[in-house]
Amino acid sequence: MEFPVQTAPACARCGDVLTTPALSPLCRACRLAPPPFVKSVAYGTYQGLMREAIHALKYDRLHPAARGLGCMLAAAMAQLAGEAPAQMLVVPVPLHGSKFAQRGFNQSRLLAAEALRFLGKSHPQWRLTLAPSTLLRLRATESQAGLTPRQRRLNVRGAFSVAEPSKVKAQHILLVDDILTTGATARAAAQALVNAGAESVWVATLARAQRAQGFGRRLAFEDRSFESEDADDLELVGRAARGDAQHAAGPSSLHQQSPF
Ligand SMILES: [Zn+2]
Repeated sequence: MEFPVQTAPACARCGDVLTTPALSPLCRACRLAPPPFVKSVAYGTYQGLMREAIHALKYDRLHPAARGLGCMLAAAMAQLAGEAPAQMLVVPVPLHGSKFAQRGFNQSRLLAAEALRFLGKSHPQWRLTLAPSTLLRLRATESQAGLTPRQRRLNVRGAFSVAEPSKVKAQHILLVDDILTTGATARAAAQALVNAGAESVWVATLARAQRAQGFGRRLAFEDRSFESEDADDLELVGRAARGDAQHAAGPSSLHQQSPF
């Protein structure tokens, strides 16, 4: 069984495919607006078998898939072993409360726990501690549909907060998620951790959607779950490309959700 891996030159910060690798080690998005995380790594690309396996876990609740995927996530995290600090808190990206209620589990937390079991054996000197209740997902209740561009910006800004900043202060954080699309979710989560006093934030995901390999409309339309789940990211891509990400204001009507 083969899972798709990224072979093209990648951005040194976010891992996105570089269209002009000779000009800069960083992609345009990272040059225009450096992300709040140090580096993001992924095991493979969000295609083919990888996408099927993630779907099996998330939507068919095929929990045995978590073991194999957890092993792959461990391999992604291990890419940081020589570079990232020796002691880190592993923070899964939480689900929005209604999504958690619907799915019954947070796949990122499950995958992080599996990955740590593998890393405990392969990298016993690496002190990684699972901290699943660290981040809270805050979210406006309105759907993105029918909102003006300005309302959408208000809707997605500040999606995360830290439950107890004292537990994050001066800590090194390894943020974990199943899929990285544009990086907007990782940026928002990392920013919340940095704002709470985290010393550094690193990111590891199973799979990333490659913009250069058809990220955007084609992928979004052929995969409705992807489209709905990452609607914020899709919106943010357009804004980052226009360079107006800084003009978004704070959220207007947020309510606190479960830490999952
Ligand atoms: Zn980048």
